[in-house]
Formats: sequence, structure tokens, C-alpha cells
Amino acid sequence: MSTPKKGNIFIISAASGTGKTTLVSRLLKHHGDIRVSISHTTRQAREGEVHGKHYYFIDIPKFENLIRENAFLEHAKVFDNYYGTSIEGVNLLREQGYDVILEIDIQGAEQVRRILPDACSIFILPPSFQILAERLIGRATDSEEVINKRLNKARHEIEQAFFFDYVVVNEDLDVAENDLLHIIKAHRLKQNSQQLFIENLLENS
Ligand code: 5GP
Repeated sequence: MSTPKKGNIFIISAASGTGKTTLVSRLLKHHGDIRVSISHTTRQAREGEVHGKHYYFIDIPKFENLIRENAFLEHAKVFDNYYGTSIEGVNLLREQGYDVILEIDIQGAEQVRRILPDACSIFILPPSFQILAERLIGRATDSEEVINKRLNKARHEIEQAFFFDYVVVNEDLDVAENDLLHIIKAHRLKQNSQQLFIENLLENS
């Protein structure tokens, strides 16, 4: 008999340039039972980004409407743009049994931790500030002004690592991906993640 299972929530945050998006894409590629929540944003799509795949790109009035309708689990303004996680989108995935990754900033992470204390929060750190700066410059998708803004913000963001359940240092992608996977597996085995299974087992004893 199959046991009903509601997926877990994993919050993944990092200072920008830490390789968080690459890490999450790798996890998704290798593990079909994990999905990422597709956020809504008011920022312009970058080259190669697809509506409905990377983000739902919407305008400010639409975003503000969704805030009024309480459609977001969390939302925040990051670098002059709005970003938000749809409650409906997350619930749908969880009900289908998928574990859901919220790849969100530190403000959003704080909101979700408050609303869903069972969510597992993971912070990704760069090996050093020097490497973080090199990665941001190498990425070259943003203007110099934006890069400087992001670097200045990085220190403040990294200070928030103290409030997360787990911290992963992304020096080597393979190692960091493996670390993430171990965290996900351990969280799945926590007693409160398995309550439905225990109840079902007892009911059928
Ligand atoms: P980017 O514009 O580079 O894709 O993302 C900028 C920042 O916004 C990143 O830290 C990213 O994790 C964060 N972000 C993306 N989606 C959401 C969301 O739904 N909510 C919050 N709070 N932050 C998000």
C-alpha cells in the first residue's frame, strides 16, 4: 500500500555569485523527486531566460495584485525588483510528493522560516571573498555598477548564514552537490518528515 507523502521544503540562499543556481540545476537534473519553485519577478528576463521555466516575468501592477490577493508564501524586493514564491505552486508540488527547493534571498528565507518552521534552510558560502568577486566579474551578465552593489551586499548576506540550519561551502561543485544531497536525505529521515508514514504503519498494524 502506498503511503501519502507531502514533500519537504528546502530553502536555499546565498550571496549572489556563490553558484547557488548552478548547484540547484545539478540537483534537479540528477534527482527527479526534487523540484524548484518557479518564482514570480518584476525584473527583466536575461538572455536565455524563459518565462515559466526560470521565472514568471510579470509587471509591477500584476505583482502588487498578487500581494493583495495573498498569493505569495513570501515576497521581497531584491536589487530594485520584486520576487515572490507562489503558495499555490509550492503546495501543488508538495501534494504531488515532490520535495521543493525555494531558491530565495535572505529576506524571503526569514519569512519562510517563520511561517514554516519545519522547512530546512541551507546557506551556500563561497570559499573566500576573493573568489566571490572573481566569479561575479567573470559572469559579466551585469553592469559594473550592479556587480559592486552585489559585492557590497554579499557581506551583509553572509552574516545571515548564522540563522540557517546548514551551511555548504561551494569550492568544488561535485562536493557541494553531494553535501546538499546528504542534507536533503537526512532531513527526509527526520521524525516529523515521516509522521504520515508512522501513522499509516500503525493504522494498518
Ligand atoms: P536573480 O535576479 O539573479 O535571478 O536573483 C536575485 C536574487 O533574488 C537571488 O538571491 C535569488 O535567490 C532571489 N530570488 C529569486 N526568486 C526569489 C523569490 O521568489 N523570493 C525571494 N525572496 N528571493 C528570490
